[in-house]
Amino acid sequence: SPDKSPILKVSKLVKRFGGFYALDGLSFHVVPGEILGLVGPNGSGKTTSINVISGLYGPDGGEVVFDGASIGGAASHKLVHRGINRTFQVPKPFLSLTVRQNIQVALAYGQAAGDAAAAPPSMAQLLEEYRLKEVADRPAADLNSAQQKMLDLTRALATRPRLLLLDELAAGLNPAELDWIAGRIKALAATGMAIIVVEHLMGFIEQITDRVIVLNAGKEIFEGTLATAVHEPQVIEVFLGG
Ligand code: ADP
Repeated sequence: SPDKSPILKVSKLVKRFGGFYALDGLSFHVVPGEILGLVGPNGSGKTTSINVISGLYGPDGGEVVFDGASIGGAASHKLVHRGINRTFQVPKPFLSLTVRQNIQVALAYGQAAGDAAAAPPSMAQLLEEYRLKEVADRPAADLNSAQQKMLDLTRALATRPRLLLLDELAAGLNPAELDWIAGRIKALAATGMAIIVVEHLMGFIEQITDRVIVLNAGKEIFEGTLATAVHEPQVIEVFLGG
């Protein structure tokens, strides 16, 4: 809803690797309850955006404001405690711990985290909602890639984020799983969580996002709905010409 004020505001963000500008003055915002898609060709800066917002990398310029406070350069664990968490393209669970133990670690970590008003999710609820009940007592190393992604998501949710960053969560899921996870993501947004998704599957992006930012070479080239984006010449050009 347009009357809500942004929970995250990114202004003129710059991230360099050597002399290369992965982010080159990127600005956007997201409001509570919104699902924002970051789309664009390979190398356009989508994952780097998530890496900077989640504190994995410090920015080289610009500002990241979360919940009214400047957070650019703060470490990931501090940001988890403030209410930002993420998933990874390649999840990194504790492989020798069971699924349940992995979630327990995140729940314990999340005790001090997130919005104090939000009740922490329960272990039983997370295992049930993300289809991990059957494998709860197996080592994380035994999970298939879809289950690893769901474990990664439950670990992020265990810390009660108010801003959730999803980096290619849907990649590798089958159509039935995609429909199901789309429903889960929408249900999370309906609780007021702000969600940013990076995803290559345009059908999935169209299904779940309220709005997209199209990136090219670390800059925004379009902001609006995906349905509108696909008719914009500059968007078509970066996808077809890249
Ligand atoms: P996208 O997610 O849109 O595919 P990325 O954000 O992963 O793009 O990468 C943007 C650009 O920054 C790419 O050219 C990539 O090679 C470069 N890049 C990303 N991370 C690093 C890094 N840690 N070191 C050097 N270059 C990087």
